[in-house]
Amino acid sequence: MAVIMKGREVVEAMKEELRARASALRAAGTVPKLMILRVGKREDDLAYEKAVKKRMEELQIEYEVCELPQSVTQEELESEFKKFNQDGNIHGILVFRPLPGHLDEEPLREMIFPEKDADGMGILNTARLFAGESTAYPPCTAQAVLELLDHYGIGIEGKKVTLIGRSMVVGKPLAMLLLNRNATVRICHTRTADLKEACLDAEILVAAAGSAGMVRGDMVSPRTVVIDVGINVDKNGNICGDVDYESAKENASLITPVPGGIGSITTSVLAKHVLRGAGAKL
Ligand code: NAD
Repeated sequence: MAVIMKGREVVEAMKEELRARASALRAAGTVPKLMILRVGKREDDLAYEKAVKKRMEELQIEYEVCELPQSVTQEELESEFKKFNQDGNIHGILVFRPLPGHLDEEPLREMIFPEKDADGMGILNTARLFAGESTAYPPCTAQAVLELLDHYGIGIEGKKVTLIGRSMVVGKPLAMLLLNRNATVRICHTRTADLKEACLDAEILVAAAGSAGMVRGDMVSPRTVVIDVGINVDKNGNICGDVDYESAKENASLITPVPGGIGSITTSVLAKHVLRGAGAKL
């Protein structure tokens, strides 16, 4: 029976330091501020926005939401974005993605100043991360996995890690973060020939596929630390992960639940990045 790793415990441990950094910045005359840029009113965007606002309030980081209509043009979007990028009172920008189909996020990825790139979307941060530079701002979800591993004292160096998923939001940046910490990383995806073997071979298994319950208990060995990044809705309308939690927790050594695992840490990483953007050494 696995030990449960709770996101809340990581968030609590991070809170003290982040609060102290925020108040030190304020005392020195800088009010840390996040700008949230959202196009339209997608339900999942609104849910994440609510969680982000709550976390910023807890940590005394200011925020502002710019909501643009679904019909906004590329030109209007870029013009708003430029304003925030140039504004010296804004220290981090979060753009909800994917953008509606008629909009292109690429110009924003090229434009964003790396120190304002709180969600690690920009090409400069991607390049820095892939080059192994510590100045990079990794995507928050990928970084949240490292915060969890470090909090629970799970060594990364020399470990065999299997990742399921190769997106630019989770899989690839996480592979780089783990590689930079000297893990041996195996990246699996929809064309991977023997996923079960790759999972059973892992000391750390991270599922970020977006496929409900795809990692079953028989794919998990007793030495495996299982981290579930997936957020899906099951047939009863409940939030669930990529791991079949009930069967996997019987076999794994440690495991994260969904909800209550990685998702909650993501907003603390976002706050950390805003504070770094405002000048905190974090
Ligand atoms: P994505 O759809 O862009 O990428 C999914 C990846 O998983 C692809 O590379 C695909 O090849 C792989 N994949 C899908 N099904 C697979 C299968 N059956 N076998 C092997 N590989 C498979 O998704 P994403 O944006 O990377 O997100 C992945 C999951 O993480 C989603 O459930 C998403 O909701 C969740 N997510 C969570 C957070 C968080 O804060 N916790 C943040 C971002 C994404």
